[in-house]
Parts: sequence; C-alpha cells; structure tokens
Amino acid sequence: MREDLAQVVDLQNLDLEIARLQREVEKIPREIAELEQQLASSRVAWEQARERLAAIEQLRRSKERDLEEVTAEQGKRQTRLFEIKTNQEYAAVLKEIEGLKERRSKLEDEILELFDQIEEAQGAVRNEGALFQEREKTFGEQRTTKEDELKRLQGELGLLEEKRRRQVSRVEPGLRQTYTRILRSRGGVAVVPVKDGSCLGCHVALTPQTYNELRMGDLLLSCANCQRILYWKG
Ligand SMILES: [Zn+2]
Repeated sequence: MREDLAQVVDLQNLDLEIARLQREVEKIPREIAELEQQLASSRVAWEQARERLAAIEQLRRSKERDLEEVTAEQGKRQTRLFEIKTNQEYAAVLKEIEGLKERRSKLEDEILELFDQIEEAQGAVRNEGALFQEREKTFGEQRTTKEDELKRLQGELGLLEEKRRRQVSRVEPGLRQTYTRILRSRGGVAVVPVKDGSCLGCHVALTPQTYNELRMGDLLLSCANCQRILYWKG
C-alpha cells in the first residue's frame, strides 16, 4: 500500500475508535438520569402508600370519635328512661335508642373494615419502602460503576486524541484536507476498504478499471459514487 494511503487508513481507524468511545461517553449521563428517574418514582410510590395509610387512620379516628358520641347519647337516653312518666314519651325514647344502636353497629362494622384496610396499607408501605431502599442502595453502586466507567473512557479518549494529533501530522496537507472534508460530509467515514468489488462505504460496485487500478496499488483512488478514499484490503 502507498505510504500516504496507509497513513490515512491509520487515521481513519483512530477516528472510528474515537467516535465509538464518544458515543459510549455520551450514553453514560443518560443512563444515570434513567436510574435517577426510577429511584424518584419509587420514592413517590412509597410516599403515596404512606399518605394513603395516614388518610385511612384519620378516617378510623374520626369514626371512633363518632362511635364514642353515639355511645354517650345512647347512655343518656337509657338513663332518661327511668325518669319518663308517659308511655308515649317512653316509646319515643326507646325508638331513639334503637336508632342509636343501629348507628353504633354500623360504625363498628365500618371501623372493623378500616382496620383491614389499615393492615393492607401498612403492608404496602413496608413493600414500597423496602423497594425504595433496595433501589437507593443499588443506585449508589450502579452510579459509582458508571462514573468509574466514564472516567476510564475519558482517559482512553484522551490518549487516542493525542495519538490522533500525532497521526494527523504525518498526513500531507492536501490529503489531510480531502480526508477532513469527506469525513465531515460522510458521517465520519472517509476511507473505506473494497470488498467483493464494491465500495464498503456506499456498497456500489466499482468500475472494472477502478477495481484493477486499486489492486495494482499505485494510485490514490476515490469511489465515484460517494467520493470516499478507497483501499485494497488484501
Ligand atoms: Zn462509495
């Protein structure tokens, strides 16, 4: 292979590796943000479970206060029964007592039902809390791993960029300009091998003449379709 072609092939390999590492580097902050998002929704679920429990407990306390009041009312009526003189009034108070008994019984059922709901809500608080704490713990570990990975990749990238600076200085200025122009307009790929008679950049078949000239290896050739610099990978 011609010396100048060999130099741009090396430069292209470095640029492909740099682009690959840059994509890896860019992925990491997004992955960390995704983990943060998961942790935040787990925290919200835990808070909501605690709020639901608090709301049911508040309702239970309010029903218990109602029950105390109704019980006291019933007691007062029952005491009054002894002081009543007429049958008519007696019957009326008995009817009130019956009504109060019914209300008590209904409240007692409701309170029992709320105790079941409280037990269930407490279970949800425990589950969501455990899930959040587990996620919080693994989040710390996962974030550290990703941050370490980021540092390692950035270190590797720094070394490759240094290597690239040295490699660029080896390519003669005219060819360097052509390379840079194609690299920018062709998605980071300026130099491609030929395989089965086709350019591996655009997959269009070369003319037999270009193909033969390339095999001889003494000309610097470009793909007629995509303009990328071609080389023969023997
Ligand atoms: Zn091509």
